[in-house]
Amino acid sequence: MSEIAKNLKNVLEKIHNAEKKSGRKENPVKLLAVSKFHPAQSVLAAIEAGQTLFGENRIQEASAKFDAVRSQGFSPELHIIGSLQRNKAKEAVRIASCIESVDRIELLEEIEKQASKIEKNIDVLFELHTGEESKAGFTSEEALEEAVSRCARGDFPHIEVKGFMTMAPFTDDKNLIRESFVTLRNLREKYQKKYPDLDFSELSMGMSGDYEIAIEEGATIVRIGTAIFGERN
Ligand SMILES: *Cc1c(COP(=O)(O)O)cnc(C)c1O
Repeated sequence: MSEIAKNLKNVLEKIHNAEKKSGRKENPVKLLAVSKFHPAQSVLAAIEAGQTLFGENRIQEASAKFDAVRSQGFSPELHIIGSLQRNKAKEAVRIASCIESVDRIELLEEIEKQASKIEKNIDVLFELHTGEESKAGFTSEEALEEAVSRCARGDFPHIEVKGFMTMAPFTDDKNLIRESFVTLRNLREKYQKKYPDLDFSELSMGMSGDYEIAIEEGATIVRIGTAIFGERN
């Protein structure tokens, strides 16, 4: 068994245990294998071990890598998880099924424009600040509210809202990390109530160091890189 296959098995076991511990029965946690900085061979090794869902944060790197993997006849699903510049939206829409890092209205507009050109529907998550130290995500709740209300109004017919994403603060303080995940879950509840016609079922939270806490707090997608592929250079 390859190192990556062993790591995957180990992570999946821990995910399963955290699910059991949290007592959840529905909405099984999806594992997003974050392959950034790792080569196409690593993605292929993970695919061989049964992994189908991947995450990348830089578009150029993701395109080259996933075009190579797909040209070999595999069809992994890809989510974009890094901050996305407007001029990269076209390529992001081409290669990904979901953009988890939507943090401003202009990006929704550009994603819609590019998705409509190629007649593709694409999923999005809204990225939020939930810990003081994280820089990524919507900068104010007004901005988020405006983005969500425009989605509810039907302004973006090629975009499917799926939920929220966050990064916990970079700290050893487990309480702060947990608080950040609870904040995201509460926001989800609030928005789901206010916009019942939109789907906010996905909560993408938890990375190699904190995914078990995230699952206990309701994560439906965990984004794990290091624990699967090893340290990045
Ligand atoms: C790199 C990255 C991850 C994975 O981090 P690990 O600690 O290696 O598991 C998850 N989410 C985002 C947004 C990332 O940029």
